[in-house]
Parts: sequence; C-alpha cells; structure tokens
Amino acid sequence: VWHQAQSNMEKVLTQQTFSTWIKPIRFLGTKKNTILLEVPNKFFREWITEKGYLSMIQESIHTLTDSLFVVELKLAPREPSEAKGAAAAPAETGEVAPSPEPKAESDFSSNLNPKYTFDTFVCGGSNQFAHAAAQAVANSPAGKYNPLFIYGGVGLGKTHLITAIGNHALTKNRKARVCFYTSEKFMNEMINSIRYKKMDQFRNKFRKMDILLIDDIQFIAGKEATQEEFFHTFNSLYESHKQIVLTSDKFPKEIPGLEERLRSRFEWGLIADIQPPDTETKIAILRKKAESDHISLPDDVALFLASSATSNVRELEGMLIRLGAVSSLTGKNISLDMAREVLKDIIVDKTKEITVEMIQKYVADHFGIKVSELKSDKRLKVLVVPRQIAIYLCRDLTKASYPEIGERFGGKDHSTIIHSVKKVEKLLTQDFELKSTIENLRKGLLS
Ligand code: ADP
Ligand code: MG
Repeated sequence: VWHQAQSNMEKVLTQQTFSTWIKPIRFLGTKKNTILLEVPNKFFREWITEKGYLSMIQESIHTLTDSLFVVELKLAPREPSEAKGAAAAPAETGEVAPSPEPKAESDFSSNLNPKYTFDTFVCGGSNQFAHAAAQAVANSPAGKYNPLFIYGGVGLGKTHLITAIGNHALTKNRKARVCFYTSEKFMNEMINSIRYKKMDQFRNKFRKMDILLIDDIQFIAGKEATQEEFFHTFNSLYESHKQIVLTSDKFPKEIPGLEERLRSRFEWGLIADIQPPDTETKIAILRKKAESDHISLPDDVALFLASSATSNVRELEGMLIRLGAVSSLTGKNISLDMAREVLKDIIVDKTKEITVEMIQKYVADHFGIKVSELKSDKRLKVLVVPRQIAIYLCRDLTKASYPEIGERFGGKDHSTIIHSVKKVEKLLTQDFELKSTIENLRKGLLS
C-alpha cells in the first residue's frame, strides 16, 4: 500500500518535492489499523505536516484502503538530541533542558531552506514594503537598514522573506557567512555551550558572521540569560558593520518581557510590517504555488479559496495541496464543487455563524421579496427560484439538516427541501447566470 501511495503522490508532486519530502519516508509496518512511517527528524515531520504533505499521505492511504488505516509518524532514532531539544524549546518557563550531548559544531552551515527565495515570493500590497526592504538588505548587507526588523502575523511570509535574504546574499557572494537561526535554536545552542563550557566557541562563531538572520525573535523575551547573550552578539555584529535581520510576530514595543535595551536596538534600523494579503495577492500566491506543484487550479476555485478562507498563507497552501491530492487520487479535475466538499471542515469557521434566518433575509432582500413570501408555499416563479436558492444556501452554509431547514421554511417536508437542493445543483451545471448569482450571494453572506 505504501508503495502504491508513494507512486500516486509522485504523479502529482514535482520531482524535487517528491524526492525531498516523500521519498525519505520509510515504511516501518502496520499495527492494528495504523500504518507506521519513519521520518528522518523532527524538522522533517513538522515540515511535512505544515506543508500539507502529511494530509496528502493520509488522503492517499485512505483512498487506497477505504479509510482502514491511519498514519502515524515516528522519528528515526538517529538524532535523539535534536528531538528533545526542540520539543522542550518554546516554553514560557524560560529555561530549556539542555540536550544530552553537545552538537558537533564542525562546519559552518547557513541553515537556509533553499525553497524560500525571492523568486517564489509573491509581492502584493500587503507585503510590498517588507519585500522591498528585504531585497535592499540582500543586495547591500549592512547598508542603510541595520537591523532590519520584519513583523507580521502567523503564516504571512516572515520566515520565507528572511530566508530569501540569506539565499539571495549567498548567490551574490558564495563566501559570505550567512546564518539563519530561530531564536529557540540560538537559545538551545547557547545553553549547551554553557553546559559544555564552550561559550567562547559559541561567541566566536556568532561574531564572525556577515549576516545573522534570527527568526521569531519574540521567543527570547522573558529569558534573561538568552537576552543578555543576544545583546552582546547584537552589539558586536553591529559595531563591526555586519547585517542583522530579525522577524517577530509583533512590533518591538509590543513584545512583552523584552528588555528595554534590546527593544531600542531593534528600532535602530528599519521596521517593516507584513499585513494579511488581500484577495488578489492570495490568488496570485495560489496560482504560483499551483504552477510550481503542477496543480491545475481553475479561476473560480482560486477565488473560492482566496475569498472564503483565512489570510494565513500556510493554510491556503495546505488547502491547495489537499485539492491537488484528491484530484490526482480520484482522477478528477479540481472543481468548485470538489473544493467545497474537500474543504468543508476547514472552511467551517466562517460558515458556522451563518444562520438559516440570515440567509432568508439576505436572499429575500436580494430579490426584493418578503421573507414571509420566501417561506410560503406559493408557486409563483418569482418566489420559487429565490426559495430554492435560499434552501440550497442553507444546506451549503449552515449545519441545519433537511428537516430543520424544512421546519424553518414554513414547515415544509424534508423531501421538498432535498428536491430544491437537487434542483439547484442540477441547474448550476447548466445555468451560468444562476451560478454567478449564487456565488455573489455566498460571498456577500460570508463577508
Ligand atoms: P511566517 O513565518 O510569517 O509564519 P512563512 O514564511 O512560514 O510565514 O509562510 C508560510 C507559508 O506561506 C510558506 O510556505 C511560504 O512560502 C508561504 N508564503 C507566505 N507568503 C508568501 C508570498 N507572499 N508568496 C509566496 N509564498 C508565500
Ligand atoms: Mg515563521
């Protein structure tokens, strides 16, 4: 089954994605109704989960086995230190248990994810400024903007952008010492260095860098020793005219527990924000992603994802990957109906608050009829169509069952409701005007 699932996924993913993220997964065996798979490390597991490849694997196995199996990921036993260190990291408690062994700091490694480049970053109104600032810094490090501080909400592209700076700087100068760190990794390494009395080595390493990129700096807030050490690292890099780039989910002033001296330093250079993307930017991002993953994404589906969903780009990408998986596994092209069906659990949040009454009022207003007429049994054509549309939307946007909808449409039989829904579904495949009317109503209700 695993081989079959793998080869199904190979068909949809680019060669690079497949060999990076699917091929290294090892099949361990099955236990009851669980398929055990082994992944190389914790980073890998997080990555495939985050990028939606895990749900793709699940989906693919479900299809092959009729949902008989669930997937469980195990870490390869090689790197116990990493798993432990990372698991303990994001604590508010301030201190982190040191890993059992110091990592061999043999070679200088940039830790940059090669996938995050300026080429793959879509620039739109919401991120234009941060994007321009990042490019300026990548092209002339330690120039005008030092430090560069990028802030913005979850999944808006901070990690992508800060990594792109490093990748770009390296393409311009292969010898540049560029290093990407999350603040947790900085902290873990520091704690281990203290514990194994390698603090000099730690300091030297950081102070020799040309470009230091620290992602999610807000996590050092409240951690005294880490802030102290970072303060010195910052000063020595800054004084020797080396570039520092930081990202955070908040503006420096709004990071609770951040030392004043660090806060003021973070404001010395340029602060650039990333805002949630507007619909056009979301569509552009989805298109780009679809293209690079060879997923064929119709315009109406792109619009559906962009307008009904979150502004978190990671989630948008996850939905796209899911659709791509379903499409390849079922052999059907991606369509609006498929998207609604596949994503109904994800796009539930927004639709949750919509009630049958809201829909009745909205549809009645749209057609200029009274709600009482909409709910009546009158067979006038001007009433029948809006009524069927309203019923269809109730079924689509609320959790109400057929009998519940019937009840609230003046006590109709549930078979009448089913009939209306079916009727509209059928018409939707033929009548494009109706289709666009319903789309507009849906959009209006969801916004
Ligand atoms: P953050 O660090 O702000 O939480 P990430 O940088 O991890 O967000 O972005 C989440 C996902 O969305 C990544 O896969 C990233 O490539 C993608 N992404 C975010 N913004 C853009 C954009 N403007 N263009 C292309 N991809 C983007
Ligand atoms: Mg990030």
